[in-house]
Amino acid sequence: MLTITKENIIPYLKEHMPDFDDSGSVTVSQVGDGTPEEDGDGYVNYIFRIHTDKGNYVLKQGRELARTGQDPIALYRNKLEYDSMRIRYAIVPEYTPFLKFQDKENNLFVMEDVSNLRIVRFQLNKNRMFPDLGRKCGECMAKTEFYTSEYFLSRDEYRRLQTKFANTEMRKIMEDGAFMDIFKTEVERGLGEEFNNFARGIMYDPRFETERFKLRRNFMSHADALIHADLHTSNIFASEDAMKVIDMEFSFMGPFGYDLGYLTGNLVSQYCAACFKPFPSEAERREFKAYLLATIKSLFESYFKTFTECWNQDAKERYQGAGGLCHSILDEVMQDAPGYAVIVNWFRCTGEIEYPDFDVIENLEDKRHAQTLSLMIDWQLMFQRYQFMSVDDLIDTVLYVEEEYRKTL
Ligand code: ADP
Ligand code: MG
Repeated sequence: MLTITKENIIPYLKEHMPDFDDSGSVTVSQVGDGTPEEDGDGYVNYIFRIHTDKGNYVLKQGRELARTGQDPIALYRNKLEYDSMRIRYAIVPEYTPFLKFQDKENNLFVMEDVSNLRIVRFQLNKNRMFPDLGRKCGECMAKTEFYTSEYFLSRDEYRRLQTKFANTEMRKIMEDGAFMDIFKTEVERGLGEEFNNFARGIMYDPRFETERFKLRRNFMSHADALIHADLHTSNIFASEDAMKVIDMEFSFMGPFGYDLGYLTGNLVSQYCAACFKPFPSEAERREFKAYLLATIKSLFESYFKTFTECWNQDAKERYQGAGGLCHSILDEVMQDAPGYAVIVNWFRCTGEIEYPDFDVIENLEDKRHAQTLSLMIDWQLMFQRYQFMSVDDLIDTVLYVEEEYRKTL
């Protein structure tokens, strides 16, 4: 396998990408050389930016050994990511980077560089708001899921997707990493023994564990649609008026509403951080917190509205008029997605992966409050979710726990 480097990338592209034009000025950089705000965090692949007068591209190469970490990961992930992106581009081109070229043999592909937009996580960390983010993400998820489900595709197409996106290796990372023994890592996060005991208490509570296993069961067995499966805020680029999703190597046929819950988990973390991180003024804190809740609300509402519209317009003949089924699917999503949000918020709060959403809080006492509040919200959401009729109930639960927590301060 050819290893792409900053030195050989231009000759490589000239040879392999027919319309690559380096006649003007050309710059090459490797992702990871810059700051997390520019380059994201936690990535495992080898990624290069190539800027020319004719266009800006990103080349992503998967190697067996990740950029960080010692364990080899399946190489096929790069091909699956390309295929997932291609499908998503066919459904929601406005939210997907354009694909230029693929080299299967060398486990790489080239796509449009979307870094004219910004990585959402690091902007939220700086209290920057993207007004339409929730609506766009909800629409993107609902369309991708509906048009890759059996409610739209022929049975054969749907089964082919299931076979193609088995993605056993990558799924395993989430099945175990997100839903299982994260706390065994016993990370020292400087939040004190009290926090660790509190987190352990939740982790090993048999009632909480049962809920975790129930969600994991759905994650492992409900092959509803092609999901992204790692849709956190570092994998979303946005500006005032645009939004693009990247990084699809975890993609597989999973449950409706998983991505919705996953992203909500990050937004809940941001909300808890916003309760305790420093702001220039209390008015700005209030505004930002309200923005986060409004984003969760529009995310869910847009998902539900879009899914229903897609169903009404494009469901296969046998499902036309079967509005009851569509309702029942969305009722299930309303109960499961908050559960997935809990899983994400919980594993990022208690796991070993760094979590910039909370790491921006320098004062350890405030950070401990933010993360403890997060875990308390997780507890409530996990058990209350069965009563949720709409996203308003989810938001009310978050507000209720925050209010109760404040009383203890
Ligand atoms: P990994 O699968 O290793 O997590 P990602 O696909 O998330 O890799 O990419 C890691 C980083 O590379 C991103 O955070 C971003 O900074 C940059 N990147 C990846 N794809 C693009 C793209 N299409 N446009 C701009 N930047 C990108
Ligand atoms: Mg990534």
